[in-house]
Amino acid sequence: MTEIFKNLIGGEWAGGANASRNINPSNTNDVVGEYTQGSVEDLNNAVAAAKAAFPAWSRSTPQERYEILKKASDEILARKDELGRLLSREEGKTLPEGIGEATRAGQIFAFFAGECLRLAGEAIPSVRPGVGVEITREPVGIVGMITPWNFPIAIPAWKIAPALAYGNCVVIKPADLVPGSAWALVDIIQRAGLPKGALNLVMGRGSVVGQALLEHKDVHAISFTGSVNTGRKVAAACIAGNPMKKVQLEMGGKNPLVVLDDADLKLAVETAVNGAFFSTGQRCTASSRIIVTQGIHDRFVEAAVERLKGLVVDDALKAGTHIGPVVDQSQLDQDLKYIAIAKDEGANLAWGGELLNRETPGFYLQPALFTETTNSMRISREEVFGPVANIVRVKDYEEALAAANDTEFGLSSGICTTSLKYASHFKRNSEAGMVMVNLPTAGVDYHVPFGGRKGSSYGPREQGAYAKEFYTTVKTAYTLA
Ligand code: NAD
Repeated sequence: MTEIFKNLIGGEWAGGANASRNINPSNTNDVVGEYTQGSVEDLNNAVAAAKAAFPAWSRSTPQERYEILKKASDEILARKDELGRLLSREEGKTLPEGIGEATRAGQIFAFFAGECLRLAGEAIPSVRPGVGVEITREPVGIVGMITPWNFPIAIPAWKIAPALAYGNCVVIKPADLVPGSAWALVDIIQRAGLPKGALNLVMGRGSVVGQALLEHKDVHAISFTGSVNTGRKVAAACIAGNPMKKVQLEMGGKNPLVVLDDADLKLAVETAVNGAFFSTGQRCTASSRIIVTQGIHDRFVEAAVERLKGLVVDDALKAGTHIGPVVDQSQLDQDLKYIAIAKDEGANLAWGGELLNRETPGFYLQPALFTETTNSMRISREEVFGPVANIVRVKDYEEALAAANDTEFGLSSGICTTSLKYASHFKRNSEAGMVMVNLPTAGVDYHVPFGGRKGSSYGPREQGAYAKEFYTTVKTAYTLA
């Protein structure tokens, strides 16, 4: 009988026989594992366990928390190849990308181990005689986490690590499509010495487990990453409940990469192809909108198509694969739908967009690059979330900047230029949370804030020292001496 990977509730692996199969998108005959589908009762038990663990965990010493997070980091890094392989097998990004993501998870835990020791407050003289004022940070309480499928280990890591570092208890519901990496991560953290109940994992459907987490009265905060549509429901539920919950949302993007006439052509093509198509384009920071000024446009398109012709789309675990499969049939359907929409809108398919057959049955799609698009077409305005990008031709820098900012999203943006003047102006005037100069819009450091503006993000930033804005609450204490 196949082993069923269970939920972690109150420090025990628990769960019924109701399980779902985790399928490898590179080979749909390959079952990565069977994972419990949690119920509302499982979720309620997990929150009760977190509540019971909170008084002790929230008062644990920074040294205790440091040691647990550091130990978790050490094991993740020691097992990065194996964890990266599991990740690539369940999600479909290439093995180097999978190992890179597992490494990032380990680095995040090392960073937040250090943060346990750095949390500080302030002592401030009062405006009143004889009174002292102290400003301190306390854990928020029980934090619910809901994560998407495209970064199956990094996103759980960048939520769980700061939550635990600052003394919160956690209930996490990972994406039902890719529970394997989150399961492995939670197993590592639990064995690193975490008290029972401080971290709980309940796998299952968003509409069941996720919804129950949003509605639970004992949950104090929700950290969500996923689509805009789900994000809106999450925020509404957090405000509607009693008590209201603190909420943080990281959502979609339609990230522009501007390429100016004075750009280094080779670097610009590499930056665009990496940002748009690596990780199968399934990154919230992907450069799905490439805005190119007219002087370099034709040379850029020609060089980009040449570069795309050389990319190998194949099994994520195969050596030499540049782009793995799309994650599942429904995402593939969405990608094909947008390819059809772009054609209907009059865009020119300069390269790709074909379904590919490989040795094993999988969701293989040739990267698609459209030209002759405008910024008002649906292909420029809606998130596809696949290996599909379009080029918008503009007159000059001013038109490029206006087009880059003309979007409902604002996660990441980029510019390829050799001009200090334009690079500086773009950094200041791009309406995005993260701006890249001569670098892909996707690909960020783990020790600095991550997040966006407009429809891409809501609430405090994630990652780096800024994570404390969400995972702690400030207390101001007055004392008459
Ligand atoms: P999704 O919104 O479909 O699902 C995200 C999570 O929400 C899943 O765990 C899902 O089970 C859960 N969920 C669904 N319905 C729910 C409900 N009613 N109540 C509670 N939970 C519910 O997103 P996805 O398809 O998994 O991920 C892709 C999206 O994530 C893209 O839009 C992408 O841009 C975004 N994303 C954003 C970032 C970022 O940091 N900004 C990072 C990665 C992915």
